[in-house]
Amino acid sequence: MAKIREIDIQCVRCNRWSPSMIFFENTDVFNRSTLLGNKQLCLLCGEETPCNKENVRVRIEGQDTYFGIDTDEWDSLISTEK
Ligand SMILES: [Zn+2]
Repeated sequence: MAKIREIDIQCVRCNRWSPSMIFFENTDVFNRSTLLGNKQLCLLCGEETPCNKENVRVRIEGQDTYFGIDTDEWDSLISTEK
């Protein structure tokens, strides 16, 4: 489990990343959430975009890199401290 600093969604229409309106405190809560399958408005083009594993990325507290949530790196973040 790691502390989350930022969650981004990639718009399926304009392909740009923008901050998600949804926020979770850590990777554990995030993983159990029902974020996936939801929709939100893209802040950049105003179109509705779905939140799926492929177009969500998370930045962890204390790290500069983003983690795609369908990657092995993400899996290891969740499994830590379990
Ligand atoms: Zn957009």
